Amino acid sequence: MEDLTIASTLKGLKNGDFTSKEITEDYLKKIEDNKDLNAYITVCSDIAIKMAEVADKKRANGETDSMLGVPIAVKDLFCTKGIKTTAASKILSEFVPEYESTVTQNLINHGAVFLGKTNMDEFAMGSSNVTSYFGPCFLPYRKQSAPDMPLVPGGSSGGSATAVASDLCVAATASDTGGSIRQPASFSGLVGIKPTYGLCSRYGMVAFASSLDQAGPLTKTVEDAAIMLNAMSSYDPKDSTSENVNIPDLRSVLGKSIKGMKIGLPKEYLENLNEDGINSINEAKRWLEDAGCEIVNISLKTTPYALPAYYIIAPAEASSNLARYDGVKYTYRSPSYSNLEELYVNSRSEGFGEEVQRRILTGTYVLSAGYYDAYYNKALKIQKMIKEDFNNNAFSKVDVLLTPTTPSTAFGMSEINNMSPIDMYLNDIFTVTVNIAGLPAMSVPCGLSSKDKLPMGVQLIANRFNETDIFKVAYVMEQAANFNDLKKEILRR
Ligand code: GLN
Repeated sequence: MEDLTIASTLKGLKNGDFTSKEITEDYLKKIEDNKDLNAYITVCSDIAIKMAEVADKKRANGETDSMLGVPIAVKDLFCTKGIKTTAASKILSEFVPEYESTVTQNLINHGAVFLGKTNMDEFAMGSSNVTSYFGPCFLPYRKQSAPDMPLVPGGSSGGSATAVASDLCVAATASDTGGSIRQPASFSGLVGIKPTYGLCSRYGMVAFASSLDQAGPLTKTVEDAAIMLNAMSSYDPKDSTSENVNIPDLRSVLGKSIKGMKIGLPKEYLENLNEDGINSINEAKRWLEDAGCEIVNISLKTTPYALPAYYIIAPAEASSNLARYDGVKYTYRSPSYSNLEELYVNSRSEGFGEEVQRRILTGTYVLSAGYYDAYYNKALKIQKMIKEDFNNNAFSKVDVLLTPTTPSTAFGMSEINNMSPIDMYLNDIFTVTVNIAGLPAMSVPCGLSSKDKLPMGVQLIANRFNETDIFKVAYVMEQAANFNDLKKEILRR
């Protein structure tokens, strides 16, 4: 089970080396044995075994769906019919959806087996999984210089990252509003792609900031990301922002030559990088040059405005989306109230955590009559400028951009105490631009930090619906990085 990928699981199932039920049972046991990592909020053992049995039967009948019998985990923000879906919030802590999200339905249709629902930051707001009502979740790695300090897996998809990195599932779904797939991928040594906005349906995904939210996979390899994203994506009339595009089978481009491709290096992403960051970009550059790419230095002047704009647009939309949790229609209701207003106020005050309340307050403020123009409208103007900047100064010149994914490697749980909310928000500095512009981007493991031997990722960004270019380049980098070998140097908890 160690290091099983989607591709190798499918091979093993096909060859009859094991059945889906056997590995599903192994995973369930391993999840139980590693409960202290707190990767899962809900483990659905009975359902998992039933799904595995169905998959085994289908395979015996000659069916070969693209993820048939592969045990995966689902971020607890995708509604799963009959399985509790909490978004890691007290306010949804008893919510059992009556319907299935399109992404999870697609995975079911492709034969995947669900082991359970993974931990995350509450309503996907955070970068370290510490805002979860169900407690933090832990990276299975340690710093060489501080072997006793537990580390965060990043966030908000921290549980999915930990589950994949600890072999508590083969792969997992995640979501990314400002970096929540790519940042945990980078911290955990995984591949994580946020697809173009509109490629995966948002139907049945608990909404954070609807114009930025996108689903995507967290996997161990680029090939797995291709298999899983193929399965997750679809045009869906139930999501009005879903786009009816036909992108090619992502797996079919793996191994294709990237000779002659132009790779842009935006200078604004390279300022203030630490030495490890600089080294990883230089190394990635060298691999791409060796593969025949041309590296082009470019400038995206709007970059510094992306983070402030994000922290206006995202809270604004969150404050509106989260208005529905009023203590009347959805699960948690405060026991202490004597009139309707108190019911609302007390349910929301007790049901939402501190970070979520901060976002609701910020969002309500920037949308209020007196400040709408000064903040929200200005942020939307910046959004337009950022999109134009990418079009005019990046994709008119190059095919793919290469940038760091995060400013640092995984940090310690105890180090968070010294961080202000703004320090935490700065984690997203390289990732939010992509959400603001609706572009696809992937974090690919590229090496280990020099002192602590922790995973580092680099980010590849492409134009809208040009996922194929990202996969082509990522596959070449993955071969060059040989991360599987490097992984052996990481100190495990
Ligand atoms: N860390 C960012 C935030 O807190 C992004 C979260 C996300 O992508 N869901 O908003």
